[in-house]
Amino acid sequence: MPLKCGVMRICRFDDNRVGIVSGEGIRDVTAVLDRLPQVTYPLPRHDPFIAALRDLLPEMPAAARRASPIPVDQVRLLSPVANPGKIIAAPVNYKKHLEEALADKGIHHGNLVSEIHKAGMFLKAPSSLVGPGEGVKLVHLDRRNDHEVELAVVIGRKARNVSAAEAPGCIAGYCIGLDMTIRGPEERSLRKSPDSYCVLGPWLTTPDEIPDPGQLALSIKVNGETRQDAHTSDLILKVPELIAWGSSFYTLYPGDVLLTGTPQGVGPVRPGDMMLASIERIGSMRVEVT
Ligand code: MN
Repeated sequence: MPLKCGVMRICRFDDNRVGIVSGEGIRDVTAVLDRLPQVTYPLPRHDPFIAALRDLLPEMPAAARRASPIPVDQVRLLSPVANPGKIIAAPVNYKKHLEEALADKGIHHGNLVSEIHKAGMFLKAPSSLVGPGEGVKLVHLDRRNDHEVELAVVIGRKARNVSAAEAPGCIAGYCIGLDMTIRGPEERSLRKSPDSYCVLGPWLTTPDEIPDPGQLALSIKVNGETRQDAHTSDLILKVPELIAWGSSFYTLYPGDVLLTGTPQGVGPVRPGDMMLASIERIGSMRVEVT
């Protein structure tokens, strides 16, 4: 199997297994977790797997060669990051989404919606995080519940006050993120943090595969109908600027997740819907709404 050491897609699946994804399927490399340092109380603020990833990556190809590939559609994909310290999210980071949010009371609800330089960033509860195989379980069904497809960045090393030029060196990899949202007048952190309202998947794609995160097509279909179809070149604040800005407020730790904002085309989902989210160079993930 041609598995270059640098370019990898790393997933978590089924009963907390870790796998390497290739065209042939998923190869189980869970044994590499035996190398993680013992964790004692108080727990670290970082995700121990992502913190050790740099050291574990060189061992994964050998472990993968000993495993038989499992078809991707036969596993239940979990979030590639199990224990992020925080999930940071950028609001209105695409100009056309700002315009649609301002034009639609169903989105803005009288909230002051302004572009990201003024709005800043917000946090989603880590308890909201699931993988694509777990699905989104809607709450407050009387309210509008929207999908937001976003490029997600996973932080790979501790970062405080880094510059945009230094930021790429802080990235462990990229995923597709769904920032599920109840529309309404409350704070974003409340409306975007119910259990399962942050979907991360289908796997972590290492930066070798994505030389420029500002050059990726992203889309989401609901029941086969295209809702959002955009490009990260339209981001107002690019990935390096977001990391630099975030790190000027709080220390970023390995495993912290950064959702970079959603483009235009947000829309409601209902129980029974099937979402198909895709980002160029990462892949696609199917997520059921229940
Ligand atoms: Mn969002």
